[in-house]
Amino acid sequence: MDLASKSILVVGLGRTGVSVARFLLMRGANILVTDDKNEPELSGQIGQVWAAAGHDSSRVKLCLGGTLPLQFGKLVLVVLSPGVPVTHPSVRWAVACGVPVISEIELAYRFLKGRTVGITGSNGKTTCTALIGLILAKQYRKTFVSGNIGVPLIDRVEAEDETCWHSIELSSFQLETVDQFRPNVAVLLNLTPDHMDRYKDMKAYQSAKSRIFANQRQDDVAVLNADDARVASMAAALRARVLWFGRQRPVCRGAFVKDARIFIRTDDGEAALLPLSDIRLRGDHNVENVLACTAAGVAAQVEPERIAEAVRDFKAMEHRLEQVETVAGVAFFNDSKATNVDAAAKALQAFREPLVVIMGGRDKGADFATLREIAKGRVRHLVLLGEAAPKIQSALGAQIAASCVADMRAAVRVAFSMARAGDIVLLAPGCASFDMFRDYQERGQVFKAAVCELKEKNAK
Ligand code: ADP
Repeated sequence: MDLASKSILVVGLGRTGVSVARFLLMRGANILVTDDKNEPELSGQIGQVWAAAGHDSSRVKLCLGGTLPLQFGKLVLVVLSPGVPVTHPSVRWAVACGVPVISEIELAYRFLKGRTVGITGSNGKTTCTALIGLILAKQYRKTFVSGNIGVPLIDRVEAEDETCWHSIELSSFQLETVDQFRPNVAVLLNLTPDHMDRYKDMKAYQSAKSRIFANQRQDDVAVLNADDARVASMAAALRARVLWFGRQRPVCRGAFVKDARIFIRTDDGEAALLPLSDIRLRGDHNVENVLACTAAGVAAQVEPERIAEAVRDFKAMEHRLEQVETVAGVAFFNDSKATNVDAAAKALQAFREPLVVIMGGRDKGADFATLREIAKGRVRHLVLLGEAAPKIQSALGAQIAASCVADMRAAVRVAFSMARAGDIVLLAPGCASFDMFRDYQERGQVFKAAVCELKEKNAK
């Protein structure tokens, strides 16, 4: 793919957009950059783009604040940032003009060297991308973790050679606009309703996720969840060899649980890998994640002892069932990353202790009534905040006592007052954070700060 002197539109000027712009400029392209935000909000990013262009205004044009690019006639390609939906006006316009639209992942893939494990699913992507990165690193000298997890894939293009392995986190939005992207190992963790505000229905969401397999061939591997009927049903249509993972029953080839241990089964037979008690992460969903990563490790020819070593080393990531502090016998857990109902459900199921749960935020078209059964007998009290509070209260309030609060500090205070020694206070919002916070990280930080403040006050 020759980019020299080509005119390319970059949609979105976040961290990934800046990296894409830098890459395209380095390869000699001229770029048009568009973002819905205004110039003052993007001053840092704009500075980086100008620096990459050597302040040559003939190579960079900016269309910010929702204005649409005007010179579509000249454009040969549109590159989308991860969060930009294909329904964005600039994408629609490009499509109408016959200009190809690809995601940053696709652009990076066309230049990337080395082998790849792509990870997608409704929940557990970041956890598994990190753990697979660790598993690969136990076996291979050069291993990189990329995608939504932190460093955009495009930033990996220049540095590496054919010997490296990439563990890549992929969202459904990124997968919608892949064309040639072909991971050596593709992992689909699960499919539960998420982003129903952005997809027409589950079928459309599933179809976006299935793009991860679209270019795979017989010598590639697809890692599928045998316990998830929607995922399992996709096996029949795949060209790649399938490795399964299943917590509920043994699988014919892949990773599963038996006698409280993780087993690997390959064409050579079955072998125990490690006891479940060696996993440092809480909850059955994390056992599923470990199984998926184990199967991915097998697919990438990592030796079983090295997979086991990586699993033993791996601790909970920030904002994912992260233990914060214990105040007067009440332990606080931060699962701010539980941004959909399924993740919140899994968080509730990860504890045997009575729970006081802080929920709410921006609704993504979720059905909170699905939490009724799981919450029954587990949740002592619900503390609700954000835009979705009334919706959650009407779905669950008849069964579980609930209080509505105005902010996170009040949520922590009220939750603590409702909890007894031995209880858990769990932040598992089941919603996006954007009504009150910049992102789920800020929400988690504010929660943790409020818990620390409570602890200090309580010590006095
Ligand atoms: P993602 O990157 O897909 O959002 P994360 O690893 O960041 O996934 O986890 C997001 C949320 O989902 C966290 O609240 C976590 O506890 C929960 N979670 C992690 N793995 C699973 C799983 N396999 N099934 C359901 N929920 C999960």
